[in-house]
Amino acid sequence: MTEPAVTGAPPTPRADLRPAWVAVDLAAVRHNAALLAQMVAPSRLCVVVKADGYGHGAAAVSRAALEGGASWLAVALVEEGIALRQAGISAPVLVLSEPPADAMAEVVAHGLVPTLYTRSGVRALAEEAAAAASTVAVHVKVDTGMHRVGADPQDVAEIVGAVVAAPQLRFDGLYTHLAVADGSATEDDDFTATQLGRLEDVRRSLAAAGLTPRLVHAANSAGAIAHPSARLDLVRCGIALYGLLPGPGLGPALAAAVAAGGGHGELRPVLSLRARVSFVRNVDEGERPSYGRRYPLPEPSAVAIVPIGYADGVPRRYFDGGGTVLIGGRRRPLAGTVTMDQILVDCGPAADVVAGDEVVLIGAQGEESISAWEWAKVLDTIAYEVVCGIGPRVPRLVIDAEQAAAAAP
Ligand SMILES: *Cc1c(COP(=O)(O)O)cnc(C)c1O
Repeated sequence: MTEPAVTGAPPTPRADLRPAWVAVDLAAVRHNAALLAQMVAPSRLCVVVKADGYGHGAAAVSRAALEGGASWLAVALVEEGIALRQAGISAPVLVLSEPPADAMAEVVAHGLVPTLYTRSGVRALAEEAAAAASTVAVHVKVDTGMHRVGADPQDVAEIVGAVVAAPQLRFDGLYTHLAVADGSATEDDDFTATQLGRLEDVRRSLAAAGLTPRLVHAANSAGAIAHPSARLDLVRCGIALYGLLPGPGLGPALAAAVAAGGGHGELRPVLSLRARVSFVRNVDEGERPSYGRRYPLPEPSAVAIVPIGYADGVPRRYFDGGGTVLIGGRRRPLAGTVTMDQILVDCGPAADVVAGDEVVLIGAQGEESISAWEWAKVLDTIAYEVVCGIGPRVPRLVIDAEQAAAAAP
């Protein structure tokens, strides 16, 4: 079978050629990993770095998280795991869904830990492991109510039996994924308890058959924060590693969990999205800048043009929802529709804004700040989608907080 050709790769983004960038603060990653590791101890911390580390850059985030106290990494795709190995990272890497049969050879070659939940998946992996004469640790996933991926509880014994019957496979983990875990409603708590109960039933019946995995796990960030009984042997934290709460109301639960673990402090946001004003023009009152002429200027205003648009992950809806940006430490409204490559900002009359000024779309400037959750509210989504939505055309500049000023282009 010939594979269809893949279209060409996009050009390498360069902040020196177009001043728009994501700053990724590795000191914040280390801090968050340490905070979470202490909070969940003696459970171990697996950090989820799928989707290029939720848009932050998987390799740099992984290294910093491991330095901060994480012991596992998790990805969604085999190619994401391969990228970590090619970056020289040797920590255990869990692939969160069962890889396709055609991907199993690479799973083995790169020493990834696959998730399995079908007989055909076990067979495909066992063949490749035997061919490579390698031993492969596997985690078996059970569906306890999310109804996405994972084996039905009544099928788990057969799948685990096939794993242990394959001389090259080792039954390293048993896990599930929580469907509602942000702790915001009583019925959510009840369903989380139901899922944990179903996982425990499976674990117990496997144990009765002499099948005991080294690690049992269930919690994502919300589970780790709001449901201590979900922590088990390992927690899989994504969003919290990046300094964002899984739900906007989880601040008190986080503070309580950190204190209960003997720690102190808060999560620190890792990412900020910044650019520089490329051009400033003076526009008369009543003029309507940008596509569709949807924003009548209330006064004669300086309109700042900023070279970042919806092709970079600033959605068109950001204008409709009343989104703002920071320039000169002040909030400023968009002056019309977000375009593909640029936004327009109403800086008001007599503004002291000039080309080259820094614009903050997400992050802090002076006393003001705009969070990913604020974007989520404007856009009627969640912070996860905001940070994952920042496009590959925007360069990721890795900094440590202490060097932030020096590193900005
Ligand atoms: C993405 C994912 C996580 C991480 O979830 P967060 O809410 O970001 O902590 C954990 N487990 C699985 C199976 C996932 O797919």
